[in-house]
Amino acid sequence: MANLDDLYREIILDHYRTPRNRGELTSPSTIRTEGFNPLCGDELVVYLDVQDGVIVDIKLTGHGCSISQASSSMMSAAVKGKTVDEARATIERFKQLMTVHESTLDGNGEAPVADIRTMGELAALQGVVKFPVRIKCATLAWNTLSQGLDEA
Ligand code: ZN
Repeated sequence: MANLDDLYREIILDHYRTPRNRGELTSPSTIRTEGFNPLCGDELVVYLDVQDGVIVDIKLTGHGCSISQASSSMMSAAVKGKTVDEARATIERFKQLMTVHESTLDGNGEAPVADIRTMGELAALQGVVKFPVRIKCATLAWNTLSQGLDEA
């Protein structure tokens, strides 16, 4: 498992150090949604440009811990160019990833790892489940996106 953990750590650090889609959108049709995680102090603003049911652009501003920053960067990369329906499905899959129950962990406390094939690099965040206080850091971006899509 060490190799997979290393890979996951590498993916998270890459998104933290080189966040994707940073910036603001300013067109009149931009949907702007703010998210805040008081448990950790993570703040996030998601800017969405949705046209004909497709997320044609997404930008993020804000600051917070490495998990919240990496998760928001990965979220933006995962949904940009996708339809609203596809984005909602990805939100659901991500939330399932974040609610893996203790009983599904193996003897080493590892969650099932098949997900990297279906979740891509988002699977890297599944280790967060072992640290319940960080789950809200990881889900902040997704909840904020979800709120934004409700306005689309
Ligand atoms: Zn945080």
